[in-house]
Formats: sequence, structure tokens, C-alpha cells
Amino acid sequence: NELPGDPRSDVISRKVFHACYSKVSPSVQVDDPQLVSWSDSVAELLDLHPKEFERLDFPLLLSGAKPLPGAMPYAQCYGGHQFGRWAGQLGDGRAITLGEVLNSKGERWELQLKGAGRTPYSRFSDGLAVLRSSIREFLCSEAMHCLGIPTTRALCLLTTGQGVIRDIGNAKEEPGAIVCRVSQSFLRFGSYQIHASRGEEDLEIVGKLADYAIRHHFPRIEKSMNRSDGLSFKTGDDDDDSVVDLTSNKYAAWVVEVAERTATLFARWQGVGFTHGVLNTDNMSILGQTIDYGPFGFLDAFDPSYTPNTTDLPGRRYCFANQPDIGLWNIAQFAEALAAAQLINEKEANYAMERYGDKFMDEYEAIMTKKLGLSKYNKEMISELLNNMAVDKVDYTNIFRLLSNVKADPNTPEDELLKPLKTVLLDIGKERKEEWIKWVRGYIHEVSGGDTPSDEERKARMDSVNPKYILRNYLCQSAIDAAEQGDFSEVKNLLRLMKRPYEEQPGMEKYARLPPAWAYRPGVCMLSCSS
Ligand code: AMP
Ligand code: MG
Ligand code: MG
Repeated sequence: NELPGDPRSDVISRKVFHACYSKVSPSVQVDDPQLVSWSDSVAELLDLHPKEFERLDFPLLLSGAKPLPGAMPYAQCYGGHQFGRWAGQLGDGRAITLGEVLNSKGERWELQLKGAGRTPYSRFSDGLAVLRSSIREFLCSEAMHCLGIPTTRALCLLTTGQGVIRDIGNAKEEPGAIVCRVSQSFLRFGSYQIHASRGEEDLEIVGKLADYAIRHHFPRIEKSMNRSDGLSFKTGDDDDDSVVDLTSNKYAAWVVEVAERTATLFARWQGVGFTHGVLNTDNMSILGQTIDYGPFGFLDAFDPSYTPNTTDLPGRRYCFANQPDIGLWNIAQFAEALAAAQLINEKEANYAMERYGDKFMDEYEAIMTKKLGLSKYNKEMISELLNNMAVDKVDYTNIFRLLSNVKADPNTPEDELLKPLKTVLLDIGKERKEEWIKWVRGYIHEVSGGDTPSDEERKARMDSVNPKYILRNYLCQSAIDAAEQGDFSEVKNLLRLMKRPYEEQPGMEKYARLPPAWAYRPGVCMLSCSS
């Protein structure tokens, strides 16, 4: 199913059997590649000297136009459940791994070009990426990392000089771009599912790929096997058969660790109001990292049913509030693939899901407790706050940041209680005001007296977990609008700003303001899957 008349289609899109990847060369037509921006901290991970970015051939090398010496480019085969349905083979349709860099610390980092041309997995599409989505992936990868959330990284952003047509309907040519993504592994749940789905013959590949992942990325698990000081874990039901021994089966220990990492990741997303938008199992990293930035969005006004993905309507499967459940559903699919290959049994699969649930709750409770500066988890206080925020559509980022300014003084006069929150509670009616006053009183009660920290100390702690600056969709959009006119200064500005999201940055306050009305326009707060 080659694209007819496409000059790039020396690559034939096809089903690839009995293989985890296909060797493939980047085939993007780069007329005039230009380096737009790069991340110095990712360069450091790769031991890449800043001078290298000045090389004349750098844009050629990092767009794939010029072969990188020692590289063995390939595209991965994987499948996935899309919106709850098994979709068969997907694979790296527009991502090509150049190879791995072994740095001076002995760490392996995989370099992957996104948007460098067709691969056997491109199906009916072009293997390319447009500037707007590449800017979003580049900025958000680095913003997430700096928020302290596990993610694939981005080394650099290039424009190709080539026009790309994305939305077939209005057939507007857009500037093409390439992001070089970096991670220790781009293996996904779907990398295992595809082989499990192909029956008998390919089940062996599931095991080989699991061995590979454990050996390279979870070496601790292999070392802890068959140790007498290892732990056995009791699962939910009480009969003795329900003991899961994680020291005798490395695959069981592995699926549990993947489940726990995924739970931690999802809890952190909820903490900062990140909505991924396309939580298909092909977009779930086995390392528990955020991967594949498409129509993601950070919450502005709190709406638990917010989905940034127009393709996700009307079901809202991937809306903000559903993410934790989706994580569990995805773990279940991953465990099922391992069970199909008889690497784990049903009890072990169930235990992984149980651990996902417990770990998620532990992490989420800890995060919300810290966000409010409480000394212990207070379920009622947190759910009342979230409920109030949803009713009054309060900004999810700014309210937590402002809460740290509330003084723990039980004698605060009534008309001053809402002062610290003034800018996020602008147009609320009298009745709602009373609800908020009630809540703030309860909050003050909770954070005062006993052995609670001083106001200053609480503020410092809260500000270190509640970001002041977040990569809101409308900020991305402003940078994109300018970039499409050839001005990349805002991309660089945002990259710099998002490096220190928890710090006050004098002169940058406007980036922390409530979003303007146009931020809620479709196309800004919501995007399609294909973007
Ligand atoms: P995503 O929704 O971004 O996770 O993509 C789902 C699948 O579509 C993956 O297999 C991608 O590689 C593939 N894909 C997305 N965009 C393109 C494109 N422009 N060309 C080829 N394949 C693509
Ligand atoms: Mg994907
Ligand atoms: Mg994508």
C-alpha cells in the first residue's frame, strides 16, 4: 500500500512479521534544514559539546539527511489498543531511531528522529511532522522533565524547509519539522502486545523482548532473583495460594515494577493537571515515562472532564479525571500480553494491577497533601477544594500557587479570607463566596496550631511542588504563531522559562496569568490526534 506518486515511497508500508524492528533510512526531503533550538541539559546527557551545534552539517545529521557515522537507523514494530479497541500493527510510522549513544557515565541514550520520513509502519501517512506539533513536543518534553515528571527528552528542533500537508480537507501546506527525541528506551506496552497477538509462533519474541528490557533497563530485577532475603507479597484475597513471590519469576517482578512506575507517572500528571490526550497502549512507555506528545493539554480552568483531543469526543475516554483508570486498563493489556506468552500467571497479573491501584493512591495522596502544605492527608478537604474548583472553573495551576500565601491565622477577619485567592476567584457570586470562605477557614484550621510549620516554611514547601509556570496550550500557540512567521524567539523564551517552573522569575509574570479568552477556542485548547 505505497502512496501513489510519492517520491519518498521507496519504503513500502506493510505488515512486518516475526521482527521487533526494521532497518530503515531517514528519507525526508530536506531542502534547507535549520536548527531552531536545542536543550543544553540533553546535550549534556549525551556528552555533546555546545560547539557541535554550530557545525554546518549539524542540521543535516540531525534531520537524517546525512548519515551519522556508526548509526544503524531502524523503526520499531508495535501494536496497540486505540480508544479501547485492538488496532493491530502500528509501529514507528514517523519515528526513526538513529542509534544509541553510550555516555561517559555508561548510560545508553537512544536518539530518535520524529518526522524524518516513511517507514514500513507508516501505513497510509507520510512519515512527516509539522512545525506546530514538533514545537509542542520539543517544549513539553523539556517542560515535563523540569517539573520533575518522567518523560522522553528532546535534544533539538529543526525545520526541514519542506512543506507538509496535514489536514487533507483544507490541504494547507505547513512547514515541516523534526524533533530529535532521546530516551533510554522507546519500548511501549504495544511492543509486547503485537507479538502476543500474532499467536504461537511469535510468543517467543515476547519473552526475548522482555529479557532484553529487563537486562538493559531493569538490571536490579535480574540481580534480585532467587535471593532468600527477597520478599513475598500477599494479594487481596486471604487464602494461602494468593502469595505472589516476586523473587522467583523475574517477569512477575518486572510487570509489577512497570505497573508501579506507571502509577507514579499518572499520579504526577494529576498533580500538575497534565492531560495526555491519547493514552492508547502504543503510547505507554515500559519505563513509566510520558511519551508521544500529541494533543496533550494542561488544565487551565479546572474541568475534570477536559480532554484536549477532539478525536476523543464525545466519549472523553482520555479526559483528565479518567486517566488513572485508563492507566490500570492499559496495565491489564500489558499483563495480558505477558500472560499470553506464559511469562506470568493470572495471579501475578492481578497482583500487578493491585499494585498499580495501591501505588497510585499512595502517590496521589502524598502529592495532594504536599500541594496543600498539609501535615497529613485530608481526603475531605482535598475533595471539597477540587469540587469548589470545578464548580467555579478555577485555574488549576494558579490556585495552588496562591494558596501558599494564606496565613495560618485563625483570627483572620472574614473579609480578608479570600484576599490571597482574589485573582482566581474573580467572578463568583455571593453564595459561592461563602462556600470558599468556609473552605479557607477549614484550611487555616488545618495548617495552624500544633506542630505545623511556620507560614514561611509552608510557603516554601508548597511553592516547590506547585508550579508558577506551566506550558499552557495558549502559550504554545503564541510561540507557534510567531514561529510560522519565521520568529522562533518565543520558542526559546518558553524553553528558558519552563526550565524553572517552580521559581519566581522577575519580568516573566505575564506567563503565569490566567489564559485569555481565545485560549478556550477549539484548535488552541483542543487538537486532533493527527496534530
Ligand atoms: P499516535 O496517535 O501519534 O500515537 O500515532 C499512532 C500511529 O500512527 C503510530 O503508529 C504513528 O507512528 C502513526 N503515525 C502518526 N502520524 C504519522 C505520520 N504523519 N506518518 C506516518 N505514521 C504516522
Ligand atoms: Mg504514538
Ligand atoms: Mg503521536
